[in-house]
Amino acid sequence: MDKNLIGKIKITGKIICKTGLHIGASKENVEIGTIDSPVVRDPITREPYIPGSSIKGKMRSLLEKALAIQLGILGSNNRRNIGTKNNPVYIHVCDDAEKAIKCPICRLFGSTGKDGGKNFPARLIVRDANLTKESIEKLNNIDTGLQYTEWKFENAIDRVTSSANPRQLERVPRGAEFEFEIIYNVEDEETLQEDIDNLSLAIELLKLDALGGHGSRGYGKVEINFEEIVSIPINDLKTGKAEFPKFTDFSNTADIIKVFSQSGA
Ligand SMILES: [Zn+2]
Repeated sequence: MDKNLIGKIKITGKIICKTGLHIGASKENVEIGTIDSPVVRDPITREPYIPGSSIKGKMRSLLEKALAIQLGILGSNNRRNIGTKNNPVYIHVCDDAEKAIKCPICRLFGSTGKDGGKNFPARLIVRDANLTKESIEKLNNIDTGLQYTEWKFENAIDRVTSSANPRQLERVPRGAEFEFEIIYNVEDEETLQEDIDNLSLAIELLKLDALGGHGSRGYGKVEINFEEIVSIPINDLKTGKAEFPKFTDFSNTADIIKVFSQSGA
């Protein structure tokens, strides 16, 4: 499928941790004798960050739930297991690009083809969110024995044996702030309004849910503050135009997308 690019919508802002945040690093990177469950960090600066894939994955699953009945993707209907047999994780993925372009979930978040079907690359790019300069300075001064983070004991109960399984979890403390950036690729006018409405809905749902692990224990509550939403038509980029329409939130999506229509260009 040939993809057309009409423009970009760039959304920037801050993710503010309202409660401790735990986004786990893979076990392979853990040194022996350290904390049980560490957070993911930049390998060079050692600063914790929020991987774009974590933000995008959470937004996808929340939007999927919100549109499940509308799209007929309840249960294992039209969904794929990306987990294991014992720990299944079902997500909706269209099997072919022709279906994906008509699907509000796959259009935004992408799909991988199955049984000979073609991939549909995501229209959304979600960048890794790094700590703000202020937060780096602030967190560098906390004295917890860890760099930029705190640790917390959690007592998990083994569901089979009922035995207590205390473990140490590392988390980014409440108040930490991260810079976020999301790019939406404008590929056609027909689906633009629906995509932007769904993107806005996914961000709102994220505020009412949790990022990272242990959300049900209170971890990962975030506030998301927009800095700006910029509408950038490709034709204006080609002519070297430097100023683009800017908005402070999604309250008027009609204005955000107006610049991409032929009559409004
Ligand atoms: Zn789909």
